[in-house]
Amino acid sequence: MNREKCGVIGIYAFDENWNVSRFIYYGLVALQNRGQETCGMAVFDGKNMKVIKGKGLAENFFTQNSLDEAKGWAGIGHVSPLNPQFDENIQPVYVNDDVKVALGYNGKVLNYKELVEGKFKSEEDAVAVASLLAKELKHSDPLEAMESAMEKMRGAYSLVAFTDKGEMIVARDPKGVKPLVIGSFGFDHGAIASESAAIDVIGADLKADIKPGEIYVINQYTIERKSAFRDKERYCAFEYVYLCRPDSIINGKSVYEARMKIGEYLAEEFPVDADIVIGVPETAIPFAMAYSNATGIPIHMGFVRSGRGMRTAIRPTQFERLVGVQLKLNPIRQAIRGKRVVLIDDSVVRGTTTRNIVNMMRNRIGAKEVHVRIGSSRLISPCPFGVEVPEKDELIAAHLTEEEVSKVVGADTFAWLSLEGMIKAIGLPKDKLCMGCFTGEYPYLEEGI
Ligand code: SF4
Repeated sequence: MNREKCGVIGIYAFDENWNVSRFIYYGLVALQNRGQETCGMAVFDGKNMKVIKGKGLAENFFTQNSLDEAKGWAGIGHVSPLNPQFDENIQPVYVNDDVKVALGYNGKVLNYKELVEGKFKSEEDAVAVASLLAKELKHSDPLEAMESAMEKMRGAYSLVAFTDKGEMIVARDPKGVKPLVIGSFGFDHGAIASESAAIDVIGADLKADIKPGEIYVINQYTIERKSAFRDKERYCAFEYVYLCRPDSIINGKSVYEARMKIGEYLAEEFPVDADIVIGVPETAIPFAMAYSNATGIPIHMGFVRSGRGMRTAIRPTQFERLVGVQLKLNPIRQAIRGKRVVLIDDSVVRGTTTRNIVNMMRNRIGAKEVHVRIGSSRLISPCPFGVEVPEKDELIAAHLTEEEVSKVVGADTFAWLSLEGMIKAIGLPKDKLCMGCFTGEYPYLEEGI
């Protein structure tokens, strides 16, 4: 599954002698887990805004030359797992209205088609949001403009925008579904990012989460903050299970600690007599470590991953698939052969990947038994807020029991972590989480929006 989500970053140096383009670049590389199809940045030097964006990984797309050309003391960046039809729709999008605005966001504004009329009406959600903000900025100061835009926007979003007047505008939706944090380098720079790990990587200090419904406006002289639309929090539960980096802290909770707890609760709920535990890299490794700690079953390295997942420019041909070119995961035979294995993964969507892995372990490598444990609860429903979970028809968890899935994937036993176990592991109250893809009940949609 391509779990669509995006990553945003914004850096503001209060001293014009700084050049932030390289910091934005490092931040984008750190957020690459959130999107590998497109990347971009908009950098401001006091007069001009330079936008550089394109397809591919940030570390491949940006060059020494392009970063040298994009000099500026403030700017924003974006990575995305989506490939829009037209390059101008790669984020940050740039709207050239009376006020010029560059904008990058993570999430989905559900009513984006209704936000602007006339020449700026757009089929692209980010362009629609940027156009709305540009329109509001014509007659209001940035804080009021963002507030007025948020009043019209319905959905889950975390955004950073930059104007040609040198203002950075930052906002998080009223329920805080998507993560967003703020950090700083002493008194010299302000930094905004989707995940705290990006703040760490660029050498800044994490200060706080941007709170749900909060707006920040940063200019060369001040940082203004307003809690504009505080609503009941509904933080995305899937960020903790899969989307975020394990070294991030979001909404005050460590992703790593949540993942270790997931492994502990999996062991408590679904113990099994086995010889080794292995985790499917990368996300399931902490689950597997904690499962092993809790049960005393030794953990082994079961697979080596080649490359950055399968979303590379060169995709396997049919023939390469047939002969089994196994870029993604190569099993370590010596660890698995003849063993009763607990195989831990992060989620199951259609079941195809799990079936292939179990089949490879059992039939090609010679595992004696394979017991599958999944660190997330049953994924039974799509996500309306920009994470690509397929339609219900395609989700194996929505239709089959654990025994049936076990047969389909060819495992000896199969189990998903319970919903209660997942909530306990995250460590936030149930009513503060969005668990729409696990329950079918969604914030915002519940209110008929
Ligand atoms: S529906 Fe699922 S993936 Fe989407 S925001 Fe809610 S918990 Fe996250």
